[in-house]
Amino acid sequence: MGEFELIRRYFMTGQQGQGVVTGIGDDCAVLQVPSGQQLVVSIDTLVEGTHFLPGTAPRHVACRLLGAAVSDLAAAAATPAWLTLALTLPRSDPDWLEPFAAALAERATELGIRLVGGDTTRGETLTLSAQVHGFVPSGEALLRRGAQAGDRILVSGTLGDSRAGLETLLRPPAPHADVHYLQQRFYRPEPRLALARQLRPHVRAGLDISDGLLADLGHLLEASGLGADLWQDRVPRSAVLQRFYPRDALVWALSGGEDFELCLSVAAEEVPACLKVAERLGVLLTDIGCVTAAPGLRVLDAAGQVRTGLASGYDHFKDSI
Ligand code: ADP
Ligand code: MG
Repeated sequence: MGEFELIRRYFMTGQQGQGVVTGIGDDCAVLQVPSGQQLVVSIDTLVEGTHFLPGTAPRHVACRLLGAAVSDLAAAAATPAWLTLALTLPRSDPDWLEPFAAALAERATELGIRLVGGDTTRGETLTLSAQVHGFVPSGEALLRRGAQAGDRILVSGTLGDSRAGLETLLRPPAPHADVHYLQQRFYRPEPRLALARQLRPHVRAGLDISDGLLADLGHLLEASGLGADLWQDRVPRSAVLQRFYPRDALVWALSGGEDFELCLSVAAEEVPACLKVAERLGVLLTDIGCVTAAPGLRVLDAAGQVRTGLASGYDHFKDSI
């Protein structure tokens, strides 16, 4: 199967979509940004052996790729619009491409994003890059900078599950219903799109947690030249995580990475409004600490003592799975 036949067969589906003047098949996609909106763009790459284990089912690769990429749009409080996909494949294998393309199309529809172009090449290591494009009303993108001393730090969902899911793949435990939940959390990130958009008017700064809470909150604080006190016992962990990996749960929640939950800096008086929004959406939102004028991120134990020696998170340039 040649390059163009592959593209036609697997990726040239459903060409219509909002703002798509010309989609797959020409030299460029031609896209119309609605007036009054800004385009926000982000790209994410998955490399086999670095971001996912060799032999991972193609549908999982598709869900992970899209979930991680679209989570960056959620972190900007943007609405997803268009997707471009760069694929480097060791071989043109229909048994891999067929389920990959089907899962990609299904997940893209669920997330409200449309494939409008890409590039397909042969190479030794399976590598996938998803570039996502979304809209925000002009001037309203949620950024990492803008936090102020005294702000509360809120996180969505529970942290550490994804790292536990990876653990079940690296060192498989005996079959158990909890394993499925944890692996889903690793394979199928759920970008907090609606939550971010609805919280936007109440939030000063924010990002999504991809490298681990400590690392990413560190980035947010750095962008504003501030610090924070964070109460480790308040960091939300799922019942499954605590039951299945009681000894690792806290460290993974603090530093595990790939949670794709939101971490937000919110003026104290806006916290009740935020909690109301989250409750309406059925998403857990937890106050885990506060922003301080003193730089540095301090993790406090139950007695209020500062913990030391905690690893901050993943470094995908150095670490591989
Ligand atoms: P060019 O050589 O002009 O870059 P290509 O032959 O690489 O064009 O691609 C032909 C068309 O197919 C382009 O519109 C491109 O955006 C699209 N395309 C290529 N690979 C993919 C892919 N993996 N997913 C979606 N569209 C793709
Ligand atoms: Mg090309």
